[in-house]
Amino acid sequence: RLSKLPYRKTLEEFDFSFQPSVDEKLIREFATLAFVHQAANLVFLGPPGVGKSHLAVALAMEAISQGLSTYFVTVTNLVNDLRRAYTDGRLDTRMRKYLRPKLLLIDEVGYLPLDPIGANLLFQLINARYERGSIILTSNKGIGEWDELFGDGVLATAVLDRLLHHAHILNIRGQSYRLKDKMKAGVYT
Ligand code: ADP
Repeated sequence: RLSKLPYRKTLEEFDFSFQPSVDEKLIREFATLAFVHQAANLVFLGPPGVGKSHLAVALAMEAISQGLSTYFVTVTNLVNDLRRAYTDGRLDTRMRKYLRPKLLLIDEVGYLPLDPIGANLLFQLINARYERGSIILTSNKGIGEWDELFGDGVLATAVLDRLLHHAHILNIRGQSYRLKDKMKAGVYT
């Protein structure tokens, strides 16, 4: 049931006082995993280092502990994997790997732009999971920047339409936790 989580992070390890834009009560509610049973999505947006992946992995660990099948993948690995399958003429079979889990984490959307085939494959996956299985998606790009990310406004709108219809969007603002000690030391001032 524990699938490809890149590391272990828990909600207990998350310092909510460091990131006041994250509503702890809401996160605790997500940790009940009701959204997974409703096939709803969570979309975590915000700059690097604010804890999007940490929270996503912590919720995935909760899901696994409740016996819900869960799979973690970065969008780059996902798109590369699907593109390879598409080229080899076995996209349908490969797609099943990402359709089967109750909860799919798609991490790091937005760091690299998607090429037309990649954008199309990601659309197909999000469309196929729509109202069937949950996605937790993390992105450093705001919703308004997705046209550019997908390189196609019509496709971006179609993706967002399905992704956000039954979704909680969490906008995390604030400092990078990775840089907090450096900031304190004045390295970045
Ligand atoms: P993002 O996905 O937003 O780029 P990460 O979730 O990867 O950021 O966080 C970067 C690092 O900082 C990770 O090691 C994570 O565990 C840690 N981290 C981020 N925010 C917090 C926090 N509020 N409390 C404890 N650790 C945090």
